[in-house]
Amino acid sequence: MADRQHVYLFYRQVPELTKKATELSELAEKNGFNIVENHQEANIIISIGGDGTFLQSVRKTGFRNDCLYVGLATKENLGMYCDFHIDEISEMIAAMTDKHIKVRKYPTIKVNVDGEGTFYCLNEFSIRSGIIKTFALDVYIDDLHFETFCGDGMLIATPTGSTAYNKSVKGAVVDPLLPCLQVSEIASLNNNQFRTLDSSFILSGDRKLIFHVIQDGNDYPTMAMDNEALSIQHVKKVEVQLSGEVIKTIKLKNNSFWHKVKRSFL
Ligand code: NAP
Ligand code: MN
Repeated sequence: MADRQHVYLFYRQVPELTKKATELSELAEKNGFNIVENHQEANIIISIGGDGTFLQSVRKTGFRNDCLYVGLATKENLGMYCDFHIDEISEMIAAMTDKHIKVRKYPTIKVNVDGEGTFYCLNEFSIRSGIIKTFALDVYIDDLHFETFCGDGMLIATPTGSTAYNKSVKGAVVDPLLPCLQVSEIASLNNNQFRTLDSSFILSGDRKLIFHVIQDGNDYPTMAMDNEALSIQHVKKVEVQLSGEVIKTIKLKNNSFWHKVKRSFL
């Protein structure tokens, strides 16, 4: 545990959370942790909020693979990324001080838009029409032209993202021990002119998915990486693949992905 003692707290600066964060800081310091003001100095990053806050904590700190991320929930339901509740801070500290701490690893995806840089996602990347008109894409798997999609949009989810937006469009829930990408449609047109697979499909981590946005005037889609909009407007080509990097969280006896699925949905 000696190499994991610098803790950064990520939360929305509202009085209620600031008070909780102060209590947590005091308890952590009593237990030998050092609270840091700059996330670059941390090797443990604790998000206080919900799954949305956890996603932001990972994004705003740069998808660190040399850090342990810990989700501390403020709502009754722990969600998928939070393993502890704000009223059980001492359980969290005990887990963090455990010499035999184990780690869970969550695959992430990387997205390249028109060669303008690489962006990471922990839940999903989504691309959808920015206007009321349908939006068309040529979909490639590696160098195979697979289909021409026309509709609202498409999303590519990680395994841990499979329980979020992906689930709302009837994608499958995928075990994060399988490093893969799931591709799902959002309201595809299927008629004699446009034909798509119309079901979600799962790609191996060795494949690349490529979208060529059909330049028909509606080529200013809305793109999102988890809960953040991508501020690139005119788009021609999007490439998505598994990043090979992971996000690490604490592995406990009762917090496997399937425990969480049962707890959240059943
Ligand atoms: P939001 O709109 O407030 O969140 C939507 C809900 O998704 C919240 O209840 C959030 O939990 C939950 N959530 C986030 N990640 C999850 C996961 N991996 N598995 C299960 N539930 C999850 O926005 P947000 O809280 O910032 O979350 C962003 C995510 O919302 C996006 O990554 C996307 O997956 C999802 N989303 C869903 C739809 C849809 O289902 N139609 C549309 C847009 C976005 P918390 O309340 O704990 O934050
Ligand atoms: Mn939220």
